[in-house]
Amino acid sequence: MMVKKIKQTFTDLWSLVVGLKVTGKNFFQPQLTVHYPRETVDTLDGYRGHVELVPKKNDPFNPICIACGTCAKICPSNCITLHVKKVTEPAPSAKKEDSASQEPVQNNQKAASPKKPKTKRVLEAFELNYNYCSLCGLCAQSCPLGGLRFSKNVYLAGVSPKEFEIDLLARMRSQSQIAKEEN
Ligand code: SF4
Ligand code: SF4
Repeated sequence: MMVKKIKQTFTDLWSLVVGLKVTGKNFFQPQLTVHYPRETVDTLDGYRGHVELVPKKNDPFNPICIACGTCAKICPSNCITLHVKKVTEPAPSAKKEDSASQEPVQNNQKAASPKKPKTKRVLEAFELNYNYCSLCGLCAQSCPLGGLRFSKNVYLAGVSPKEFEIDLLARMRSQSQIAKEEN
């Protein structure tokens, strides 16, 4: 019994020594963190903030995203919810079709079949529940158009989970508005 207790004491002491060794080693390493807000970091290269929508180059108020839903399906934590509206685009105008139909049709040509109206998926909101996101990056990797990327939103803070439920479409538009006002 006594031997067992002595053995246990040595084991505990050894564990303490190992812990202090790790602490001591890191104590003399250069500091990697900063005392925000008194200090900020120089570069955010390589920083992975929550994902964000990439705007179109020539139309920064609209995203590259075509609302295909691939990212939402692949997300292992079910963080992404798309709100999509289906919009039917009108077929080419009747007038155009009329004038086209007056052109003679060659015997060996088939008359052009009337064009059907197209249905387009329009993104109304792109909800990210950042509370459950593991920053795995699968959503960004799976997007066929490169419509998602990691943001540099390093100073994100909040007091309730609701504050980490972000509409990425609204956020992208508000950032484009800020950039427009600054230019
Ligand atoms: S980074 Fe991973 S967990 Fe986060 S939204 Fe994308 S797929 Fe989901
Ligand atoms: S995979 Fe890309 S295009 Fe498809 S819904 Fe996600 S962000 Fe949009």
